[in-house]
Amino acid sequence: MTTSPIVRAPRGATRTAKGWIQEAAKRMLMNNLDPEVAEHPEQLVVYGGRGKAARDWPSFHRIVETLDRLENDQTLLVQSGKPVAVVGTHDLAPRVLIANSNLVPNWATWETFDRLEKAGLMMYGQMTAGSWIYIGTQGILQGTYETFAAAGRKHFGGSLKGTLTVTAGLGGMGGAQPLAVKLAGGVSINVEIDPTRIQKRLSTRYVDTVAANLDEALRLAREAKREGRALSIALLGNAADVLPELVRRGVTPDLVTDQTSAHDPLYGYVPSGRDDEDLAALRRQDPDEYLARAQESIARHVSAITELQRRGAVAFDYGNNLREQARLAGVTDAFSYPGFVPAFIRDSFCEGRGPFRWVALSGDEADIRATDEALLKLFAHDERLQSWLTYAASQIAFQGLPARICWLGYRERDLAGRLFNEMVADGRLKAPVVIGRDHLDAGSVASPYRETEAMLDGSDAVSDWPLLNFGVGIASGAGWMSFHHGGGVGMGYSQHSGLVAVADGSEEAAFRLSRCLTNDPAMGVVRHADAGYDLAVDVAKQRGLDLPSLGV
Ligand code: NAD
Repeated sequence: MTTSPIVRAPRGATRTAKGWIQEAAKRMLMNNLDPEVAEHPEQLVVYGGRGKAARDWPSFHRIVETLDRLENDQTLLVQSGKPVAVVGTHDLAPRVLIANSNLVPNWATWETFDRLEKAGLMMYGQMTAGSWIYIGTQGILQGTYETFAAAGRKHFGGSLKGTLTVTAGLGGMGGAQPLAVKLAGGVSINVEIDPTRIQKRLSTRYVDTVAANLDEALRLAREAKREGRALSIALLGNAADVLPELVRRGVTPDLVTDQTSAHDPLYGYVPSGRDDEDLAALRRQDPDEYLARAQESIARHVSAITELQRRGAVAFDYGNNLREQARLAGVTDAFSYPGFVPAFIRDSFCEGRGPFRWVALSGDEADIRATDEALLKLFAHDERLQSWLTYAASQIAFQGLPARICWLGYRERDLAGRLFNEMVADGRLKAPVVIGRDHLDAGSVASPYRETEAMLDGSDAVSDWPLLNFGVGIASGAGWMSFHHGGGVGMGYSQHSGLVAVADGSEEAAFRLSRCLTNDPAMGVVRHADAGYDLAVDVAKQRGLDLPSLGV
């Protein structure tokens, strides 16, 4: 079959593959393409512009067939979404190794990538799309909440109560923004050009209401702000028009950011245009003209953000390379506002804290509830985690296989992983659990305009670290590992690695989980200790890491 099917992962404790890791990889690939999960499943696009799960439908079917016949001493190799080989390895090796979108640095541009993609030789894997561990918008919700909550603590006396955030993009990741701002107590106006995305966020309760126009959005926002009531408002429009209009009207929000897919100006950022214009046709027929229009819009969009900052708004870049695209378009002060990692997240990274996530292969929501309760007991001292998990358990709508995310650090993730494995073994969970994380993590990525922006020792662009992370995961018993290029910020701007493990209740799984869920977050502590962050050095000392060059 080569046409686009409706894909939904099998559920339950019976597998057709020869081991649970192969079965888990297959179900997670399928889950990434579940219409409840993926943004454009018919094109195999999961999220983040054109982040795909497999290169094409024949490749998808071949991966599924191969995973079903893969022995427990074999490893499947996937090159940019296409299964290229099965090699004999050993029981403790990863069952799948994935390399997506990697280009030799001198050729690492969208231009080269687009040519190779058109020739059928590559696909864009984003971060968790091509590595089969995307769990829908929840996957970014806690991180987005951590960011906005940190902004509240740093700039607004504790929370975002009584503040207005203006942002754009209600896609797979950006769709988490309205709910995250609301959780942090604030009001948000979320500009989105695509009405279907607004509907999706309304139906999954990520956004409260949609305003008919900017006047109404501002009126609703002012009322809620005055009453100290948290509210999220979607507004159909183009950020490149709405933000300059705020400047023109003299309306200055408290916080301003953006999560359009500006990392990919050809496929991810919609230029400002007339209502009767067919921009999709323009992109097909004249991509150069489309790109020029996108760049001109990005320039206006970022100029408005910097002007709002001058007028007192707190501005930050939300990891989509918008500033760099504006700089390329001639905006000289595009980098006058910081990225979200140096502004709000770096301390977490120093502790190896990052977006740990897990998925119930049973398909039963009760399994996630049981894991929520188990973690609430295991980390009873952690207030942030307590309030997050309590909220998530009561409010978050699942997409696809039931899943949960919570940020855990070094010497926490392995405890959680082994606990889940025990729960599978003794029947508290009905089927195995998949455990993974975003590539956006403490020690898994080099991305100078995002995760590694403004490192203390200037090592922002050193990508030895994600390569070491990839190697450590393989050596430590991960179920599948991936190495990608261009995630988050686009071609030429990032390299990153991903890890997924499987808790099937076996002793082998306990061994694998204890190694890989210890060593993987350790890389975050190591990376930041090596860069000179005192907090990371302290964590390394207290939690027993062995760092020869630091005498720790
Ligand atoms: P997506 O492609 O699913 O969604 C992008 C949305 O932006 C779409 O709904 C699109 O219609 C909208 N859009 C595009 N141009 C617009 C414009 N000019 N005005 C208004 N709306 C416009 O992407 P996503 O998964 O939501 O990711 C968004 C961006 O955030 C990407 O660049 C991604 O790499 C980045 N990202 C950041 C983080 C983070 O933690 N900071 C994490 C993941 C992704």
